[in-house]
Order: sequence, then C-alpha cells, then structure tokens
Amino acid sequence: MHLRRWLAPALTLALVAVFALPARATPPSPPLDFTLRPLEDTRVGRPTRFEVVATPRLSGGRLTIELTPPPDVVLDGGARRRVVDRAPAFVATRFEYAAHVPPGLTRRVYVRATLEMPDGTRYTRGENLALLAGAERTPAPRAQLTSDGTSGRLLAFDGEGGAPVLAPASAQGSWIATGQFLYKDREQDATGFTGVEPDRPARRVDVQVFDATTLTVLATGATDASGNYSIPVTDALTRNVRVRMVALSSATPGLLVDVRNNASARIAYAVNGPQVNGHVPTADVNFGAVTAAAGAGGEAFNVFDVLLNGCDFFFLLEGARPNLRVTAYWEPLSVDGTYFLSSDNSVRLRGTEGYDDTVIGHEQGHFVANHWSKDQSPGGTHYIGDNHQDLRLSWSEGFATWYAASARRALGVGPRPDLYIDTDGSPGVGNLSFSYSFETPNVAANGGACEVAVTACL
Ligand SMILES: [Zn+2]
Repeated sequence: MHLRRWLAPALTLALVAVFALPARATPPSPPLDFTLRPLEDTRVGRPTRFEVVATPRLSGGRLTIELTPPPDVVLDGGARRRVVDRAPAFVATRFEYAAHVPPGLTRRVYVRATLEMPDGTRYTRGENLALLAGAERTPAPRAQLTSDGTSGRLLAFDGEGGAPVLAPASAQGSWIATGQFLYKDREQDATGFTGVEPDRPARRVDVQVFDATTLTVLATGATDASGNYSIPVTDALTRNVRVRMVALSSATPGLLVDVRNNASARIAYAVNGPQVNGHVPTADVNFGAVTAAAGAGGEAFNVFDVLLNGCDFFFLLEGARPNLRVTAYWEPLSVDGTYFLSSDNSVRLRGTEGYDDTVIGHEQGHFVANHWSKDQSPGGTHYIGDNHQDLRLSWSEGFATWYAASARRALGVGPRPDLYIDTDGSPGVGNLSFSYSFETPNVAANGGACEVAVTACL
C-alpha cells in the first residue's frame, strides 16, 4: 500500500520529465522521408539486394525514384526510373533492386526521389548507397590516438605535403618553428559538390611543436588568418621534433571554438606536419605547407572554419566574438543526428556533414539565438514547404538558416549565400541530399508560419 502511494507520484514525475525534455533544434528537410538499405550482406560474385523506401508528407504528388549507378556497377533487378502518380501522404512506397559490384572496391549507387506536386512545386532528396563486396583494397586513412602532451588525448592524422627547411637560429637557447596549415575544402552549389576542392588556410587553430619520441609539447601557438604560424621554442636538447595543428582555439584569445569526436570521449582532432629527426636547438625550422586531406582531418578543420566564420559574423554585429564556447561533435560514422544541444552548447553533426557548411552554420544559428535572443521554439522535426508551422518553430528555424547565410554573405564566402545545401558527404561530384534557395524559393513558401519565408524576410 505504501509502495503504491509512492509509486504513482514517482511515475507521474518520470512521465513529466520525459515529455518536458526540450525537443532538439534540428536542420530542415524536404517533405519526403527516404531510406536506402541493403537487404543482405554484399558478397563477391553475387548481386546484393537493396531497398528504397520513400514516404511523401504531402498528398497527391507524383513520386519518381531514379537510380544512377557508376559504370562498373550492374543493376540486376528493377528499372532505373520508377514513377508513382498521385502518391498519398504518409504511405511508404517501397522498391527493391539488386546490384553487382566489383570485388574490393566501394561503389556508390546514387538514388534520387522527386515529389512533384500538382502546382509544379518539386521536392527532391538524394543519397548514395555504398556497397562493398569483399575486403576494401584501399582502406581509408585512420586517425591515431595519441597523447596531447598532458593528460588528454588527440585523434591525429598525417597531413599531406610539408618539406622542412632548416636555418641557423637567430637567438641563443631558442629556435623558431614556422609553416602553414591548410585543409582540403569541397565546394558546392545547388547540385551538391562541384568537384572543386581547393586547399584553404586552417585559420586560428592551435599549433603545437612537440617531441616526436616522448610526445612532450615544447611550445604552443596558433595559425593566423592565412594559416601561417611562427612559434618560438625554448629548448636545449637535440631531439626529433614535429608540429601539428589541433582543432581547438586555446591559443587565440577571444575565440571559443572546439571540434571533438563525440560528447563522451571529447577527443579533439589533430593533423601532423613532417618530422625533423636529430634537430639541434640552434636551428630554426620552416615545416612548409601541410594540408589536412578530406577523410583525414579535412572535415574537422572545415567544421572549425565554418564556426569561426559564425563567430566573426557575430563580431561584426556585436563588436566581439561570442563569450561562450561552441563545441562541434563530429566523427566519420556518427549517426547520432544533427542538432544543437543547449545544455552543453554543442553542435552535433552526422558523419556525412563535415563539409555541409550551411547545415553547420544553421546549428550555430540556434546556438546564437539560444544565448543572445529569446528562442521559444518547441524544436523537433520540420519540413521546408510547410506553411503551417508553429510560429515559434518557423521563426527559430528561419533565423538559424538566416544566420548561416548572412555570415556567408557578410564574409564573402562563396558561391551563393541564398542557398541551403545538404549533401550526403560522399567523395566526388554531386552527392546532393537536397538544396533550396530562400530568395527565389523553388519550394512552397508563404507567410510567417513558413521557415523559408522567415529566412527570406530577415
Ligand atoms: Zn534548426
């Protein structure tokens, strides 16, 4: 009896706690749910069956599913293009296919779903299904877990390039480490990745000079706006020395940006420069230009750069960068979701979003609204083309996209600030999930209860 008297209120409290949890501030998506899934393990010499499931959230549109396999992938089952006229809302349409892939090579079949409404409005959504039969012949580079010189750890990749040049040190008992750190960027437009992949400076990131044998950090500094660094090192020993950049901002006063792997391990990313063996402390070293490649740290430093732009745009508006830290959690295989979490000021990113600048900037917009505005959004899932959103939600989501876009426009980040672009992160050209323009909307956008209209007004 006593137990029951205690249980009922406890249960009520637990239920209230569950329902009172704030819904997460997520990115927009088209009104078209879409999943790709292999139906069996891929095996050498046999086709792999997979399914495509598309569920429109609007009624009466024409649903088209199109597959684009690479030239060396043979489709066994299913036409490359299938159409459902007058597809009902919230009813899943499921298609099955089978594909032969060459052994030992990851191959991606690009699948695009298009929902065309009677008024001509089109919503599209795409994704690659990665298939691999047998062991991968060219495995992707993996980060090494290493000491950060104190009690912490870093996930370190080896950078590309860099050719050390030594010169006599000008001062006694100290030498100078110079060089430049860059990251591989991947440009995009309304159709996804353009294939243009320039090396961009890794700006305002930490740089450490360390003993490559003992992992002792000898000196710390930061890159400037061009990715260059020049760090005096006080040292008296002959040893093997190396430099690395770290996706932290501890050596840049007034900047509070971190990029780490996940919220439990909280390990920051690093990219190593070349090593100089038997370095004598009377020699300055120019380590040269070192680039973080895509798939080997490039994503982490791209995320850092987007967040830096968001902080610099804040500076233009407020006269100082945000005085609160924003931490991005990104790792290659994360499927945790994409959202801003106010309890720890973190931007959570899926593995596929390391180069999705507008998605990263959108979540940073939620961070800004959360602390420097009065955000009352209930959060949760939301769709572009929805003109009947909760006004608190449409304002918050419209603001978040506006923040990302205005930062891009104010800082001159190309190519077009009026686009919101979400890719599936696969290497190569295209690989678009979806995109839309909010200045000349290619989606339905009417009134204050539509986040696209809110963005355009702002
Ligand atoms: Zn959002």
